[in-house]
Amino acid sequence: MNRVEARLARERRTISVMIGMYCRAHHQPVSGLCPACAELEAYALLRIEKCPFGWRKPTCAKCPIHCYKPEMRERVRQVMRYAGPRMLLRHPLLAALHLLDGWRAPPQRP
Ligand SMILES: [Zn+2]
Repeated sequence: MNRVEARLARERRTISVMIGMYCRAHHQPVSGLCPACAELEAYALLRIEKCPFGWRKPTCAKCPIHCYKPEMRERVRQVMRYAGPRMLLRHPLLAALHLLDGWRAPPQRP
């Protein structure tokens, strides 16, 4: 796996882990994710895949584009607000790498 793929694979894993933590705490899914969170995850993964910045993708919080539609953006914000602080305890490496990604200045255009 090259650097680009590794970076994007980590983004996908980070968002999946965060949605999983949020769903388990709020929706008590029988297994995996509840239907609403599965939809949110699929949407988030698609946004990452389609991101016009490609491997230079800033973390979504810093992105100048904000490609999420408003409803999904609000839902993902709730997930981040809940799972963000918990990531540091449960997945410190992923959380630290995501923070590092966030420190890089976002590119101004794709
Ligand atoms: Zn859920």
